[in-house]
Amino acid sequence: MNTNIPIVSDLFQKNFTPTDYFDLTKAEQARILQFQQEILQLVVLGDDCKEVCETVCLLLEQLLDNAVATVMLLDKEKQCMNVFAAPSVPEACITKLNGLRPGPEAGSCGNAVFRQEPVYIESTLDDPRWQSIRQLAIDFNILSCWSMPIRSKGGECVGSFALSSFERRLPSSFHRKLLEIGSFIIGIALEQQKINEQLNLSSKVFENSPEAIMIADADKMIISINRALHKITGYSSEEVVGKPVSIVTSIRHGTKFFQKIWLSVKQFNHWQGEVWGRNKRGLEYPAWFSITPVLGKDHVINYYLINFSDITDKKKSYEIIWRQANYDSLTGLPNRNMFYERLDHEIKNASRAGIKLAVLFIDLDRFKEVNDSFGHSTGDALLVEAAKRLNRCVREADTVARLGGDEFTIILNGISDQHCAEMIIKMILVELAKPFHLNSKQAYVSASIGVTFFPDDANNAELLMKNADQAMYTAKNSGRNCWNCFTSNMRTAIEIRSRTAYELRHALRSEQFFLTYQPIVELATNRIYKAEALIRWQHPERGVIYPAEFVAIAEEINLITDIGDWVFKQAADQVAHWQAHYNRDFQISINKSPKQFISKMSDWVDHLNERKISGKSIIVEITENLLLDVHELVVKQLLNYRDAGVQVAIDDFGTGYSSLSYLKKFDIDYLKIDQSFVANLDSESYDRILCEAVITMAHRLGMRVVAEGVETELQKQLLLEMRCDYGQGYFFSKPLTVDKFEAFLHNSGDQ
Ligand code: C2E
Ligand code: MG
Ligand code: MG
Repeated sequence: MNTNIPIVSDLFQKNFTPTDYFDLTKAEQARILQFQQEILQLVVLGDDCKEVCETVCLLLEQLLDNAVATVMLLDKEKQCMNVFAAPSVPEACITKLNGLRPGPEAGSCGNAVFRQEPVYIESTLDDPRWQSIRQLAIDFNILSCWSMPIRSKGGECVGSFALSSFERRLPSSFHRKLLEIGSFIIGIALEQQKINEQLNLSSKVFENSPEAIMIADADKMIISINRALHKITGYSSEEVVGKPVSIVTSIRHGTKFFQKIWLSVKQFNHWQGEVWGRNKRGLEYPAWFSITPVLGKDHVINYYLINFSDITDKKKSYEIIWRQANYDSLTGLPNRNMFYERLDHEIKNASRAGIKLAVLFIDLDRFKEVNDSFGHSTGDALLVEAAKRLNRCVREADTVARLGGDEFTIILNGISDQHCAEMIIKMILVELAKPFHLNSKQAYVSASIGVTFFPDDANNAELLMKNADQAMYTAKNSGRNCWNCFTSNMRTAIEIRSRTAYELRHALRSEQFFLTYQPIVELATNRIYKAEALIRWQHPERGVIYPAEFVAIAEEINLITDIGDWVFKQAADQVAHWQAHYNRDFQISINKSPKQFISKMSDWVDHLNERKISGKSIIVEITENLLLDVHELVVKQLLNYRDAGVQVAIDDFGTGYSSLSYLKKFDIDYLKIDQSFVANLDSESYDRILCEAVITMAHRLGMRVVAEGVETELQKQLLLEMRCDYGQGYFFSKPLTVDKFEAFLHNSGDQ
């Protein structure tokens, strides 16, 4: 026997000096080497770890009579030891041994793990180190026990390997060597088991991953693929192993694309991104690739780990979300979001190229009527058709978008002059004015278009849109079915408007408002016991401002209710005063805009009650349109007025949409014929017939009539002939301040 053959355990054992090989007899040496070879063979053949341990136990038992071998492993978490292999130990003994806590009295094995060194106990029945498990020794006749720690590759103690004898004895060098080799090889087997488990796990992950995975060598040749790769690409392992990784990608990318990727893998140790994949049948699909190099010693790339997944569905759902966020679902046109994005982009392009662009704001005229009379689905169909017509009028590079409702916008790129835009706009007007044939119905609309130019009118998207919007409104107001170019006058108007809105908020607090009163004359008697309160704004810089310039703005910024309440209280005090001093039946007319009705429930009647002013003292002037779209609050307040005796007049009668049935329903007391009819009163005019008809009708319905805007004696005379009840206008008096009004009353002799 060659004595130079190393005993493997000598090379690795720590914490103790291994038994000297040369202390053994030649026969012992030979048996030990044989023992060692037999169990190493088991490990190398990859036998199950438990089987290896049991075989080691049995082999050892063959070499020592009257003894049994045990492998116990440490449960690190619970800090106790359990029997792993003990083929000759009775089950009852194993049960008692399980759960042994390493410690100074925990027998040979408990001590071997506790001290991390071999423990040879000659007499278990009286050795203090067996104190806590003495009964076990007695029950199972264990008289001596030698135990050796089992270590992991890193030297950590993971259990014990022991020989228990049924006689008192100490180990010879030969026995010690056997234990040393046994524990060492068991350590290797346990280590191997751990590695196998990990490998097993890795290969399961590799195989079962839903992502395609391939391993390529340093030359980017495929070494191995998983099942998912086969599923995604259709290639079997045989078909791709040995082939370049580019077999799974599209040729559309070209070599430069991949060169960049590999360079990035090298530089940053990772790359991920979108690559077009190509399957076995040549079909291409978007894929998300991730490439990681596996580095060997000296940081040289040995392998590449490449995984990818087909992201067709993901991209589709992303695209759907993106479309929903950027396109109008009805017409398929870009929506507001997308429009602003494009406009920003086009502004940049135009400014770089030094060219103009035009922004068009298009609002369909009478669309609401189509919607109301034909229904929403027909309305929708009209919008779809309108979108198509708009697209037909512009060039490929232009953008047509729908902002919402019946509002469309267009960006015309590279417009050289206004004339160029004009041609397109005129075409749009013609196209949209053509009849729409929708679900066997025929509908007509037209368009009002506002246009503004970059960079002439504004240099940013928001301002351009504001301009175009303003220009569109001007077009709408000037009769519809036409277009209007933004002008600097409009900008001034916008600026004045926003400044007025700002200043209005302060005006009320700073008491800048005052009331004027215009007499309403009883035509038959020339008596004056009614007046209309008309608000004025004493602006600190601009002088007196008339309601036409601020009432609409106050409505817009929701200030009209507060202003209106102020007017009412002021007028109520005034009427009480004039009733006391001039005429007990005096009445003041107060204008109340629709906005005031629907913003809150009015407390005017409560105020009158508190001040002990009769309801009859006040006439509330409303417009015809208020009665059209009847709001719950409007009805409530009108009924409230009726119950309190407050009278109601329809102002500017004839200019809105009226229905006689409404007038009757709401107990209207007065009709005020709009001044535009009164202005045209001459003996033959159409307006005269109209006035006459209105007066007759009003009387039949129990209403009185006031003619507004009476400026001449003739008008007064004609109205009188028509039996009109009251007249109001410059012919009698302009609106007057309180002092002047009182003087006027005085002079007119009607007190
Ligand atoms: P309105 O209620 O129709 O008032 C009559 C308007 O015609 C007044 O204009 C008055 O000055 C004017 N006017 C009177 N007689 C003649 C005439 O012979 N010829 C001409 N050309 N005009 C005449 P004003 O005071 O500028 O008021 C304009 C409108 O503002 C009022 O029209 C009314 O709708 C509104 N308004 C006035 N005061 C208030 C208020 O306190 N609250 C609300 N909500 N609106 C008010
Ligand atoms: Mg009025
Ligand atoms: Mg009026």
